[in-house]
Amino acid sequence: MPVNCSKCETNRATVKRPKTGHAVCRECFFAVFEEEVHETITRGNLFQQGEYVAIAASGGKDSTVLAYVLKRLNERYNYGLRLVLLSIDEGITGYRDDSLESVKRNETDYGIPLKILSYNELYGWTMDKIVKEVGRKNNCTFCGVFRRQALDRGAEVLGVDKLVTGHNADDVAETVLMNVLRGDIARLQRCTNLVTDSEGLIPRCKPFKYTYEKEIVMYAYFKGLDYFSTECIYSPNAYRGHARAYLKDLEAIQPSVILDIIHSGECMKLKEDIKLPSQGVCEKCGLVSSQSICKACLLLEGLNTGVPGLGVKKSSKIKRRNPNAPTGCKGSCQSGCKT
Ligand code: SF4
Ligand code: ZN
Repeated sequence: MPVNCSKCETNRATVKRPKTGHAVCRECFFAVFEEEVHETITRGNLFQQGEYVAIAASGGKDSTVLAYVLKRLNERYNYGLRLVLLSIDEGITGYRDDSLESVKRNETDYGIPLKILSYNELYGWTMDKIVKEVGRKNNCTFCGVFRRQALDRGAEVLGVDKLVTGHNADDVAETVLMNVLRGDIARLQRCTNLVTDSEGLIPRCKPFKYTYEKEIVMYAYFKGLDYFSTECIYSPNAYRGHARAYLKDLEAIQPSVILDIIHSGECMKLKEDIKLPSQGVCEKCGLVSSQSICKACLLLEGLNTGVPGLGVKKSSKIKRRNPNAPTGCKGSCQSGCKT
């Protein structure tokens, strides 16, 4: 039997919100989706009037919806932001080249300028070449480390005040779970941060921190947004994939579990006896690093000297001492990684 929208009480409800279970009409779904992002932005004091903000754009659903919504909110609430799309071309034939075409169309459709930086120009390597060299086992370590640094470099080149990423509530909950399962307390205490503000680096913000992935997909679908949804050809079935599957199973039983896990993560903040490293600069590239040589330079040196294992080997001590190390790949990312 048809029910009326629980918000406007006039239109017929056509959507059941995955986050709350409320039955709403399409227009009210758009409104509540956008309002919740606005609330995250204002409560978290993410932006100041007149700031220049880069949106990390992969062409996937999260960053496409983020660019679309941020543009709308910026106009509606007079944030006064100047927006720019920042894309990283990892050099993955048949994947990133296609997804970048979506970003280029977004540039025209949304009227937001686009800057593309490639691994090839920054490091002299594409992911296609790296995979040929290192195989399919550790490829995402290289990709994640390089992407993180490439975004920082791009943000610096553009001279932006903030960098926003499309990490959604599911991503954050997955990361909390993974850090709990690994006992990685240093990362656990910072992975729920709405803003990652490392000394010397441009702050990164997650306006979708409380936005459910399913609602992002619904929003993109109902709005008919142009995004790329194919999985990376080098995607492994990583550990994160298991955490994701577990989370989806729990969500099917109790949808609030995603927010509950984030809340738990927020409550597990820094214990006093855990020492965070002091930040310095990398001796090779001059970018901010807690080690004398940053991870990206170490990996690059390994590639250039034919010892690709250099910098890949895990050390639990390094992991604990270095909370600013990249979080690595989402593994089964469908829309480009957001590390
Ligand atoms: Fe890079 Fe993600 Fe592909 Fe791994 S799955 S190679 S991190 S884009
Ligand atoms: Zn370096």
